[in-house]
Amino acid sequence: MTAASTVCCMAFFRTRAGWQASIILFCGTAVLVFAHGTDAHERILIFLHRYEAFELDELLLALDVVGLMSIVYACLRLLDLRQEKRRRDHAEARADWMARHDALTGLYNRHALSERLEILRQKRNQRFGIILLDLDGFKKINDAFGHAAGDCVLQEVASRITSLTAAGDTFRFGGDEFVVIIPEPSKLVETAQQIVSALCVPIAFNGIVLDIGASAGFAEHPKNAPTPAECLTNADAAMYAAKASGRGRVYAYDQSMQERQFAKARLEHSLREALRAGEIKPYYQPILDLQTGAVMAFEALARWEQAPGKFVPPSEFISIAEDMGLIVELTDQLLRMACRDALHWPEHVILSFNISPTQLQERGLGLRILNILMEAGLTPNRLEIEITETALVHELETAALILNDLHEGGIRIALDDFGTGYSSLAQLSNFQFDKIKIDRSFVSSFQDQEKQEKIVKAIVGLGIGLDVPTTAEGIETPEQLRSLIEMGCRFGQGYLFGKAVPAHEIPEAVLQIRSAVV
Ligand code: C2E
Ligand code: CA
Ligand code: CA
Repeated sequence: MTAASTVCCMAFFRTRAGWQASIILFCGTAVLVFAHGTDAHERILIFLHRYEAFELDELLLALDVVGLMSIVYACLRLLDLRQEKRRRDHAEARADWMARHDALTGLYNRHALSERLEILRQKRNQRFGIILLDLDGFKKINDAFGHAAGDCVLQEVASRITSLTAAGDTFRFGGDEFVVIIPEPSKLVETAQQIVSALCVPIAFNGIVLDIGASAGFAEHPKNAPTPAECLTNADAAMYAAKASGRGRVYAYDQSMQERQFAKARLEHSLREALRAGEIKPYYQPILDLQTGAVMAFEALARWEQAPGKFVPPSEFISIAEDMGLIVELTDQLLRMACRDALHWPEHVILSFNISPTQLQERGLGLRILNILMEAGLTPNRLEIEITETALVHELETAALILNDLHEGGIRIALDDFGTGYSSLAQLSNFQFDKIKIDRSFVSSFQDQEKQEKIVKAIVGLGIGLDVPTTAEGIETPEQLRSLIEMGCRFGQGYLFGKAVPAHEIPEAVLQIRSAVV
C-alpha cells in the first residue's frame, strides 16, 4: 500500500461512515470467530437436517437472499453518496469562488483583497505598491444609458486593467473602484499611467460611444505606510486628491493628503455630533416683493457655528452630509425648526426651504415633508421648496413623482439657481414651477456686462411669458435693484435687503427691509 492510499484510508476511518464501517467489520469478525470456535455452522446444519419438517432451510435461504439484496442496496447507496459528495464539493468550490470574486467582472473582490493584504502583512518586509483607481463619469453613464451600459463599462475596464497587470493582482474594490497590487514598486508610476491612459479610450456599447476615464492614486509599502492596510488607505487619499484636481490624473501619495483626510474625518465626526446635538440651525434671509417692498418670504439657510463666531459654510457641510447619508436627517431637523419659526411670522410670509438634489431621488420625500408640516401645524401653502436644476437630471421619473406629491399637497416649488445648469429650458417645459430664481452670478455681474443683462432680461421675460414669477438673487446695490424692477422682476433677495439672520432677529430685520426699499 502506498503512502497516499494509507493516508486516504486513515482519513476515511476518521469520518462518520468510516466509524460505522469499522464497528460493522468488528462485529462481523467477532461473530465469525465465535462461529468458528463453536463449530456453529456444522451444528446449524445438523439441526436443520434433524428438524427438516420445520422447513428452516427455506428460512435460511430467504435470509441469504435478503443479505445479498442488502449488499446490492449498500453498493447503490455508496454510488449515490459518492455522487452527492462530488456535487457538494463542486458547490463548495463555487461558493468559495463567489466569496472571493466579483461575479460581473470575474476579478477578485474586496474580501479577497483583505486576505491578500493580511498575507502581505505577515510577510512583513516585502515591498509592494497599491494603485487605487476610480472611474470618472461612471454614474452619469449608468443614469443616462442604464445599468446594462454600466455593466458593459465595468467588464471592459476590468479586462483593460488585467491586460496591463499580472494575473490575480487586480481587485474590484467597490462600485467603480479598482485596486491593483504592484509587487515591484519601481513600476508604480508607469503602470498607473498606462492604466489611466487605457481607461480614457471610449467604450462602444450598442452603437453608442461611452466616454469614460479614470483617476488614480498610489502608495508604496513600507515607504509611505508601515502596514498594507495603511498603504491602501493612503492610495485612497491620493486617489481622492487626484479626483479633486480634475479627470484622468495620477497622484502619488504624500503626507499632506493624509492630513487633509484626517481633517475631513474630523469634520465628518463633528458634523455627526452637531446633528445629534441639533447645533445646525436655519437662519433666514428675506425675499421681498419688489413692487411693494414687503417681505413675502424668508429663505431658510443652514448655519453651523462650529465654535463661537466660526461658521462652516453650507456649501461644505451639505455635500459632506450627502456623502455620509446624513442629508435626510439634516433636512428633516432643519425643516422642523424652520416650520416652528415660521409659525411666528405674519400669515402672508412664506418659508422658502432648500432641498438637496440627492433627495429628489427618495420616493417618500413628499410625504415626509407633508408630515413634518402637519406635526408643526404649518399649512402647506406657506411652504415653498427650492430645488436646483441638477436635481432634475437623474432619476427623472422619481423626481417628477415627488414634485407631483408636493404640488398636490399644496406646496409651491421654486427652480433655484436658474441658468447655471445645462438643461434649464428643458426643465421649465417638463415640470411645473411656481417660481424661477435667477442665479446670483447673473445678477452680480449684469451691471458690468451687457450680455448678462440681456440674459437676465430674457429670463424675466420668459417668466412673464410662462406666467411664472421670477426672483433675482444676490441683489447688492440700489442700481441692480432699480434695473431689475424696470425689467419686471417680481421678487428680490440679497445683501441689500439683509443677510440671513437667526430667527429671534427677524422682526427687526423685517422692519429695516421695508424702509430700505420704500
Ligand atoms: P442658495 O440656495 O442659492 O442660497 C443663496 C446663497 O446666496 C446663500 O449662501 C446666501 O447667503 C447667498 N446670498 C444671498 N444674497 C447674497 C448677496 O447679495 N450676495 C452674495 N454674495 N451672496 C448672497 P449660503 O447660505 O452660503 O448657501 C449656499 C448654498 O448652500 C445655498 O445656495 C444652497 O444651495 C445651500 N444651502 C444652504 N442651506 C441649505 C439647506 O438647508 N439645505 C440644502 N439642501 N442646501 C442648503
Ligand atoms: Ca436657495
Ligand atoms: Ca440660489
